Amino acid sequence: MSQRLLEVSDLKKHFPLKGGFMGGTTGFVYAVDGISFHIERGETLSLVGESGCGKSTVGKAVLRLFPITGGQVVLDGQRIDDLSPSALRPLRRRVQVVFQDPFSSLNPRMRVKDILAEPIRNFGLARNAADLDARIAALMDKVRLPRDAVGRWPHEFSGGQRQRIGIARALAAEPDLIICDEAVSALDVSVKAQIVNLLQDLQQELGLAMLFISHDLAIVEHMTHRVAVMYLGKIVEVAPKRSLFGAPKHPYTEALLSAVPIPEPGAARERVILKGDVPSPINPPKGCRFHTRCPYAFDRCRTEEPKLVPVADALAPGHLSACHLHEMPAAENPLAGTKGHAVLAA
Ligand code: SF4
Repeated sequence: MSQRLLEVSDLKKHFPLKGGFMGGTTGFVYAVDGISFHIERGETLSLVGESGCGKSTVGKAVLRLFPITGGQVVLDGQRIDDLSPSALRPLRRRVQVVFQDPFSSLNPRMRVKDILAEPIRNFGLARNAADLDARIAALMDKVRLPRDAVGRWPHEFSGGQRQRIGIARALAAEPDLIICDEAVSALDVSVKAQIVNLLQDLQQELGLAMLFISHDLAIVEHMTHRVAVMYLGKIVEVAPKRSLFGAPKHPYTEALLSAVPIPEPGAARERVILKGDVPSPINPPKGCRFHTRCPYAFDRCRTEEPKLVPVADALAPGHLSACHLHEMPAAENPLAGTKGHAVLAA
């Protein structure tokens, strides 16, 4: 059995802009514009970047919530982006999602018991009523909620408890991969840590793979195995956690990391302030999409798009970055020797 559970190749999602004469298409939002990545069984890959970079669109594309514009999504060796709804149905069980907002993602008119029973019934996982009840009780145990709370309504729970119910609902389908789309962003700091720890424990216990979509690099550092950094519809850097946080290779990643608190007492790091806003994905800059904000941009960056390629002096294999600076001799490369910070958690 291959270790690779999910393989995404050259994924594109361009949303048409309507409003021209007779409601015609006037352009496109290039939300995701040719990205490739993979996730191994039991692995967490985090997708990070500023709002609007396209990371949530990637999650929705993997979930097949809309048709994609181009590329391929392969789950456990089977291409799923072109399957008919009926052919996709058995595979839907294997990829589940936990959304950001635990308040709106649960049906307020369903008791917890019914919320958890729905996916079990839909995918035909319970042998009989007793098995259904036993599965629901086991799910409550897994997310550390009392079994006798199954008769309560979503509004009777706190935000953190509702997110536990959301996680239990995802687990009810017995998935191989869970997409966590900003799943802890709306929670208070202390609750956030509890939910992150719960997700880590569940991953180890059940061997789940996770696509963890987040703008919060401090949380990502705590729980991920690898990180992919997105900017304006493209992946600009992907690397094992230690290598990315220890020695970022892309100027955008360097700027993002400079804003993350360092877990070493007394350590300091120069903050890189990016000028300007993220350009519009309707009309992304030519060449390197980051060149309008990059402090190191030079002529080539404005005309030629850099490829995502392995970086020679990375701390670990599998560290890829898309920047023309990597082709410069070290003596001329302003990023050579850039240090992130030691990663305390493995
Ligand atoms: Fe900056 Fe140029 Fe590298 Fe893009 S290719 S990140 S503009 S130095």
